[in-house]
Amino acid sequence: MDSVRAAGTVYRELLSLFEGLDATSDIVQVVEGISPDGAACPLYISVGSGGSRQTFWRFTPDDEPESWFDEEGRRLGEAAFAQPRPGSRLSSPFGPRRYYGRLSGSGFHDGIDYESKVGEPIFAAADGVIEHQGGYFEYGLTTKVRHAAQQVTLYAHMSRFAKGIAVGATVRKGELIGYVGMTGRSTGAHLHFSTIINGKFVDPAPYLSNNGNRYLSSPSLVTFRKWQQDILAAVKNARDQQRRPPIDDFDWTKRI
Ligand SMILES: [Zn+2]
Repeated sequence: MDSVRAAGTVYRELLSLFEGLDATSDIVQVVEGISPDGAACPLYISVGSGGSRQTFWRFTPDDEPESWFDEEGRRLGEAAFAQPRPGSRLSSPFGPRRYYGRLSGSGFHDGIDYESKVGEPIFAAADGVIEHQGGYFEYGLTTKVRHAAQQVTLYAHMSRFAKGIAVGATVRKGELIGYVGMTGRSTGAHLHFSTIINGKFVDPAPYLSNNGNRYLSSPSLVTFRKWQQDILAAVKNARDQQRRPPIDDFDWTKRI
């Protein structure tokens, strides 16, 4: 039941993206696959006809959460990540550390900082599984959430964790995971938020922005193209199987 409901959510999400789309366009084709747990899941959906036909793909890149993408690999709808501290001011960006506008010459800031007060809530940036919860080097009390094979977010300097959240727990985008603190090596209360892709710290900013035209990263785009081709080939193959005329059991010409 859960997976059926999940598939329903996925379609609702897509339909919400179509709000404002030409009312005369019809959904002409929905192609579903079967996920490893046996549930039906959408692979792509085509809308409209002729030159105005658009196809949208459900795809899980290695380096960002699953979503709908257009034919060119642009993410539809919301940003990949929800703000972990909505409403908080960014106090320090990703990159070489700067003080009073000058490079400090010491250290690289491997995430972004949100100015916050102790006890303010911290939310999961995307759906995922809690991979670490506890002390973590200079980050102090830290939660790590795995979202995709090669994608992890990290929330540092926390004061405490949310009730009922433990290692192995599944969390939803926007779910409360803990509270701001100043544990570890921290000069004051703030949330330090990092994005780790393929084991490397990368700037979380692009993942938090929904400027609408964000393409998949180059490696993911390559996987996306291959995946599109594989699915189209599988669909064509399935159609050919259906069209093949029934095989005659007898060759009558030889009986005459
Ligand atoms: Zn920081």
